[in-house]
Amino acid sequence: MTTIIDGKETSRRVLQNLRVEIEQLKQAGHTPGLAVVLVGEDPASRVYVNSKVKACEELGIYSQKWTLPTETTQDELVQLIHQLNVDTRIHGILVQSPPPEHIDEQAVILNIDPRKDVDGFHPINVAKLVLEDPSGFVPCTPLGCMELLNAYGIPTQGKHAVVIGRSMIVGKPMANLLVARKANATVTIAHSRTADLPGLCRTADILVAAVGRPCLVTADFIKPRAVVLDVGINRVEDATRPRGYRIVGDVDFASVQPLCSAITPVPGGVGPMTIAMLMSNTVKACKLAYGE
Ligand code: NDP
Repeated sequence: MTTIIDGKETSRRVLQNLRVEIEQLKQAGHTPGLAVVLVGEDPASRVYVNSKVKACEELGIYSQKWTLPTETTQDELVQLIHQLNVDTRIHGILVQSPPPEHIDEQAVILNIDPRKDVDGFHPINVAKLVLEDPSGFVPCTPLGCMELLNAYGIPTQGKHAVVIGRSMIVGKPMANLLVARKANATVTIAHSRTADLPGLCRTADILVAAVGRPCLVTADFIKPRAVVLDVGINRVEDATRPRGYRIVGDVDFASVQPLCSAITPVPGGVGPMTIAMLMSNTVKACKLAYGE
C-alpha cells in the first residue's frame, strides 16, 4: 500500500501549533510581523503574495503588503528594504520572486537584514544551513519537505536520497537538510546535465523532484518502495478545466504511485507546506528578536 502524504492536513497541524506560540508571544507583548513586497504585475506572484498575507491574517500575525509598480528602481526597492529592516513591528521580510528583469534579485537579498530573511536566501542564512547552525533561516519549501518526512515518521538516516534540481530555493537547501546530522541521509544532487537520470534515481530510497518539468519522473525512475516528494508546480493545458489548465507536479503520479511506499500528490502535497513554513520562520524571527 502506498501512503499519500497529505500536505494540507500536515500544514493545518503546523499552523495550529503556531497559533498557540503566537498567542504566547502576544501575551508577552510581542506580535510577529511579516512584510511581503511585490514588484510588478506577475499574476502568479500576486496570488502567492495574497495567500501569504491571508495566512498571516488567519494566524494573527501582523502583516504589511507592499505592491510596487513594475518600473520601481533597484534603489527604491532597496530603500524600502532598509526601512523595513529598522521597523520594529516587522520580523520577517519577503520579496516575492521573480522581480522584474531590471532588478538584481541577489543584490536586493543582500540588503535584507539576515535576522529578518524568513525566505532563507541571504548568504548568512545559506552559510548557517551548511554549518547546521539552528539560528539561521531555511528556505520554506525544503523545510516543508523535511516537516512532511518527520510528520509521517519516514526515516532518513542511512538512506540514499536523490534530489533532482540544484536551485538555491529548493534543490541545494533540500540536499543540505538531508545530509545534515539531524537527518543523516547520503545525498546525490542531480540536474540537467546528469548522466542516466532514470538509472541514478532508481538507486534512491528518497527521491525529491524539484525540476519544473511536468511528469518528468516516470515509473522507470523508481526503486520499489521508495519515498517520492514532488515539489514541482507546473501548468499544463487542459481544455476540460474551466481555467483551461491544470496543475501537475514533476512526477507522473499515476504511474509512480503504485511503486512507492509514500508519495506527495500535486496539488495538496509540498505546496501547502511552503506557506506554513513561512509562518513558522516569521514566528522564529520574532522569538529571536526578543531572545525567547
Ligand atoms: P529552477 O528552474 O530554479 O531549477 C530547476 C532545476 O532542475 C535546475 O537545477 C535544473 O538543472 C534542473 N533540471 C531542469 N531540467 C532537468 C532535466 N530534464 N533533468 C534533470 N534536471 C533538470 O526551479 P526551482 O528549483 O525554483 O523550482 C522547481 C520546481 O518546484 C518548479 O516546478 C517550481 O514551480 C516548483 N516550486 C514549488 C514550490 C512549492 O511551494 N511547492 C516552491 C518553489 C518552487 P540545471 O541547474 O542544470 O539547469
